Amino acid sequence: MNMMINDNKVSNEKIIHWRDNANLGFSKKDRDTTTILFGGASLLADELVDAAVNSLGIKFKALPNPDFESFQMGKEYGNRGQCNPTYFNVGNLVKYLTKLRDEDGIPTDEIIKNNLFVTAGGCGPCRFGMYITEYRKALNDAGFPNFRIKNVDQSSGIYQGAANGDDGFDFTPKFYITLVKAFVLADILNIQAYKIRPYEVEKGSTDIAIVECKAILKDAFDNKKNLVLAMYRCRKALEKVKLDRLKVKPKVIVMGEFWAAITEGDGNYNLHRFLEQEGAECIPQPLISRLMLSIWEAENELTKRVNLEDSSKKSLDFSFLKKKLTIRSAKWAMKSHIRSYMAALGLKDYEIPNMEAMAKTAQQYFPMDSNGGEAHLEVAHLIESVEKNQAHLVISVKPFGCMPSSSTSDGIQSLIVSKFPQANFLSVETSGEGAVNFYSRVQMALFKAKQSAKDEFEALNYDENTVVPNHINTFHFQPKTTKTGSAAVLVDSMS
Ligand code: SF4
Repeated sequence: MNMMINDNKVSNEKIIHWRDNANLGFSKKDRDTTTILFGGASLLADELVDAAVNSLGIKFKALPNPDFESFQMGKEYGNRGQCNPTYFNVGNLVKYLTKLRDEDGIPTDEIIKNNLFVTAGGCGPCRFGMYITEYRKALNDAGFPNFRIKNVDQSSGIYQGAANGDDGFDFTPKFYITLVKAFVLADILNIQAYKIRPYEVEKGSTDIAIVECKAILKDAFDNKKNLVLAMYRCRKALEKVKLDRLKVKPKVIVMGEFWAAITEGDGNYNLHRFLEQEGAECIPQPLISRLMLSIWEAENELTKRVNLEDSSKKSLDFSFLKKKLTIRSAKWAMKSHIRSYMAALGLKDYEIPNMEAMAKTAQQYFPMDSNGGEAHLEVAHLIESVEKNQAHLVISVKPFGCMPSSSTSDGIQSLIVSKFPQANFLSVETSGEGAVNFYSRVQMALFKAKQSAKDEFEALNYDENTVVPNHINTFHFQPKTTKTGSAAVLVDSMS
């Protein structure tokens, strides 16, 4: 019995404290009856992962894209002082389950028995490690006690099963390979879509082509068809989109906290589409960057650990060599898949993130032992964008209440901008509310970016003989004298 003091009166009301009782209860035999819910990646990735994993006979379902209502439900049932992505994602699950119960009429115990949610978690200087507790607390308060949440720990790689050998998450390597393939395909298609949509002649034609591509890829997963050939068929669908490459558009890199930068909805005020509406070409962050960062971190940790050990033992340490080989193979396999899908789709001017080079670029400004979140990637992206002349504007999306993102965007990036004054950098906060302020700050930064793009284009002095092949994805405007005379051709600086 606890004593409570309210309005100077002492009461004997019993306080029931919150306890985080983990209830997984998901064995291999439960797979047939349990739907694994997930979400929170890009729109395309969520859909393709859904199709890819279901094709393996595992019941997977992507939640709808988190929206403002999700955010409000997250605030209603979550703890105070959480970061913006926590509210959106936790609220999104509560919203989905509430809909099943209140609109579809499914009894609560059936919802709890037949569904499970999987989320990523891990150690880091932020709330990421506490996500799972937030989910449980909110679900409990929303009337779904003991709803099963599985935390996929980033540091455990494919070893997510319980030690007793009967864990429903003890999936085969084929499951993880299929999952990664779906993420890679979604990323490549997404990158290409963002490259062509701003230049389409008929409004909406890129989105129509993307719907066709999704159908092609889902069919390929369902019917175990060759994914490279499927990407080639997507290329044909995208080539139907007529482009006007002479539209002058500033290129804008969107980066920042992982979820806030990749979500395509209310979570960042629909930033990607807003940039396109305002006449810019948006360069989104691919999910593969985060996957490759995890591989880089694993290799880095391994090297550091070995260096701490007794040097006389090192030469005999075969387990180190085995782990290193496994990491290198994973890296090689991922890159070769990315390259083959890119070639099939005709995405020629995309540079696969080079984690070693990015670490080298960022290390003099960012403590490399500080991992979690985007680690040093944001810093490296900004420096690279200036050194390689990649964009006219770099936007970092910083969720309200996010300590790692604030210390990087407001702290370290201020130093980078002072060292690279030619950078057009904007760090904007997303709080879920305050869209007007957000848009107005983006518009101000875009004004400068548009001017730079225009100046760059005018410096070309092109005339009516300018030849612009439809398939070329312009990067920056670069003049190139053709054999036929002075006509300029817009070429891709990366191809
Ligand atoms: S990095 Fe920031 S926004 Fe992302 S989970 Fe951590 S605290 Fe939240």
